[in-house]
Amino acid sequence: MAEIAIIGAGQAGTLAAVGLMRAGHQVTLYSDRSADSILDETHPTGTDFVFGDSVAYERKHGVDTFEDRALPADGIHLYFSPKVGQELVQVSGLLDEGKGYAVDVRLKSKLRLDQLAAGGARVVIEEVSPGRVDEIAGMSDLTMVATGKGSLASMFERDPVRSVYETPQRYLGMVIVKSIPTDGSGFPNRLPGHTPVCFNFYGDIGEFFWVPYHHKTQGSCWNLVIEAKTGGPLDTFRDVTSAEQMLEAVRDIVSRYARWDWETMREMELVDDDPFCWLRGAVSPTVRKPVAHTESGRALWSLGDTSFAFDPIGGQGAGSGVRQAGY
Ligand SMILES: Cc1cc2nc3c(=O)[nH]c(=O)nc-3n(C[C@H](O)[C@H](O)[C@H](O)COP(=O)(O)OP(=O)(O)OC[C@H]3O[C@@H](n4cnc5c(N)ncnc54)[C@H](O)[C@@H]3O)c2cc1C
Repeated sequence: MAEIAIIGAGQAGTLAAVGLMRAGHQVTLYSDRSADSILDETHPTGTDFVFGDSVAYERKHGVDTFEDRALPADGIHLYFSPKVGQELVQVSGLLDEGKGYAVDVRLKSKLRLDQLAAGGARVVIEEVSPGRVDEIAGMSDLTMVATGKGSLASMFERDPVRSVYETPQRYLGMVIVKSIPTDGSGFPNRLPGHTPVCFNFYGDIGEFFWVPYHHKTQGSCWNLVIEAKTGGPLDTFRDVTSAEQMLEAVRDIVSRYARWDWETMREMELVDDDPFCWLRGAVSPTVRKPVAHTESGRALWSLGDTSFAFDPIGGQGAGSGVRQAGY
């Protein structure tokens, strides 16, 4: 039995922790927030839609996959326009490797932290500093850092060969909404009878998409993401400070640039009682070296966004983290 320390309680850290605990190791999970604080006092890291092959890793390691109750995405539909006003092509298809799910990561973290505590792992609520990582690594056979894009990620050297960009390529917005049908009747212009991930790509202004979502308290609803090219007509929400303002910005974008969906989305409202049901910000796509060393030379292994942050443009940061942690 090995002594394993994992720092960070997102998708990647908690999946690795539960999997290693169930494999018989003594796991200590360090989180800067308690399970309840993650659930009630944070924004989700992202939409976190994962495909069926990632869900299979979750199933394999014995965490809740939500397949019995979450709204699945069973297909993909894409409108592609090289420029605004030039609707060139639509692409659609059903997912043949099993359905995918976007489950509120705050709920996943909360349930997995509870599972770890009940299963005999140690859960330590502590914001871990670089100096403390050295101490933790000194007490452990293996130390994994899964603290996301910021924080301890800078201990891992940026890989200049694999990191193509120095700056964010889009400004991002996200909001979680209800009052869009979740029974397959909502998007008649796309895949009728299904609940696909609905993409809209514009070559000149950016991308935006709608994802079937399982919210932590409200269950089935939709998660809307905007990826704005800098200075373009989608780049309208840098200054928003509330969920209400983000919804207004998204509503304006849908009515102007996704008229094929506007009738369906006209009545959308914020999901209830969740002031954190939105996000805005930007990510510099970065790949880091997978191993780092503390000041005293102890080895660290990265997981999830600490290893590579490329989302949501790459579309599978969470999925990659799940596969990395779950392999
Ligand atoms: C708008 C948007 C949409 C996205 N959509 C998708 C999608 O559809 N599909 C997909 O696959 N990916 C998507 N992503 C990417 C996805 O959200 C991330 O890749 C994924 O959630 C990262 O998980 P993680 O566990 O690596 O890190 P995080 O979720 O960031 O978790 C890190 C944890 O570590 C904790 N922590 C941080 N510092 C410390 C410290 N010093 N000590 C202790 N704890 C610490 C944090 O509080 C947090 O709980 C999207 C991203 C965005 C921004």
